Amino acid sequence: MDGFYKSTYEEDGKKYVLVSTQFEEVATRRAFPCFDEPSFKATFDVSISHSTDYTVLANTIIKDEGVGDDGLTLTQFETTPKMSTYLVAFVVSKFEARGESPGKDYIFKVYSRPEATKFMTVPTTYGTTLIDLLSSWTGINYVDLGNRQAYQVAIPDFAAGAMENWGLITFRHSAEVDLLDEAEKTSHSAKQRIITVVAHELSHQWFGDYVTLDWWSDTWLNEGFATYFEFHIPSETLPSSVPLSVEQSKINTPREDSSKFDDISYDKGGSIVRMMRYILGEQSIKDGLREYLHSNHHSNTNPSQLLSSLNQVAGGLDFVKFMENWIYQAGINCASVGRCDIIAYVNPSSADDVSFKLPNSTCNSDYISKQNFTLDNSAFSNISDTGVLHVDILKGVLIWDWACKLGQEDCINYAITTFEEYKNTNSYLSETIATNSSIRKQDASYVFRAVYSNNDVGVDVALTFLENNLQKITETYKGMSALSNLINGIADRVKTEDQINRVS
Ligand SMILES: [Zn+2]
Repeated sequence: MDGFYKSTYEEDGKKYVLVSTQFEEVATRRAFPCFDEPSFKATFDVSISHSTDYTVLANTIIKDEGVGDDGLTLTQFETTPKMSTYLVAFVVSKFEARGESPGKDYIFKVYSRPEATKFMTVPTTYGTTLIDLLSSWTGINYVDLGNRQAYQVAIPDFAAGAMENWGLITFRHSAEVDLLDEAEKTSHSAKQRIITVVAHELSHQWFGDYVTLDWWSDTWLNEGFATYFEFHIPSETLPSSVPLSVEQSKINTPREDSSKFDDISYDKGGSIVRMMRYILGEQSIKDGLREYLHSNHHSNTNPSQLLSSLNQVAGGLDFVKFMENWIYQAGINCASVGRCDIIAYVNPSSADDVSFKLPNSTCNSDYISKQNFTLDNSAFSNISDTGVLHVDILKGVLIWDWACKLGQEDCINYAITTFEEYKNTNSYLSETIATNSSIRKQDASYVFRAVYSNNDVGVDVALTFLENNLQKITETYKGMSALSNLINGIADRVKTEDQINRVS
């Protein structure tokens, strides 16, 4: 199945023969003499002589058809754009086409054996949408790449998954998995797989065909981009997302029932529950859900009962309104994260202008420049308050982390001062030898390791502590092995002559 090869398939108990091509990477030379390397680009004028009852396809649309000297039909194709040899393709078969592209300046069609043409819902529905999205994303219309033809062909006996021949993309057909679907029977995930493969191959028309890698050493220039776009482009507008809940009147038949046992109900459903837990907090959501179970016992519910129970524990937030669009609105939401004063905020946005409310979206200002970023010192006192919620501490750590990474002066000064204090007081290490310490003796070495293994300064801190408290450490640790392990651990990390002298 390399080069120009013969293939067969059966329909109605009869065997049919077709010929097709697979040239990537080095099989074009097996079909015709050429400099078969990607950097040698040329235009190709393809003519195929064939029996009248066969359909012939090549990279470009048919220019002319006539009768050759041998009495066979001679089909001539338009000159191809300038391209690499591995992208040349032709197919001679009894295939039939489906797919229309009215209003487009290119011709989109899907070809397969006649019996399989009823399985083309996915590629014919989404093919032109994907091409238009790629045209818009790259700023180069498909037709401006240099080819008016965008054909997809399902080939039996095809070794590769699919091949991005310019204008004549070939797909594996044997299992009917990569291009063809049975509308009623094909699973949602199998349809997604088809869209992904079609998007991948169409992306190659820009990344690979129009602009081609110089040599196979840089294959990622083709495949890396096609793989990126196979996920990115379908996610732009295709209906891979549906609402979590729909109106009850829309679900009537058993088939409609089972359609709701999809990834959205399972995965998005689980994510939404998790999101609600983080918005409300562990205790509140427990309280709310206990109320929900209690007040609806032996009964039936819809989301409004759930939200009404959770609303009671939402601490003033209109939880019903807040969750409405998460539950009843389709769309793929993405969030841009920025900062406003010291509060991190999340701005909801989505490709289809669907907005999703987010708990911290209180600040609507655009990204605030580093210079304008001021850190309110009161944030620190809040964080050191042992009474604050765990989540506030985490949020505080995050704010510190961002502020210091962004070079916020207050934060850096605070970090330096705190670190100096820490070095001088050694309160963390002192805890290991304190009477009634909360650190268990067997864990003391972990505390030391945490101090000396993080950075060079830590070695000095641990050494100083060891020198100043040797007696107490020996008494506390009792056995010598714990002490020798501790000294060995520090000794492994000493770097300066001074440190060596101190250890010895
Ligand atoms: Zn590819």
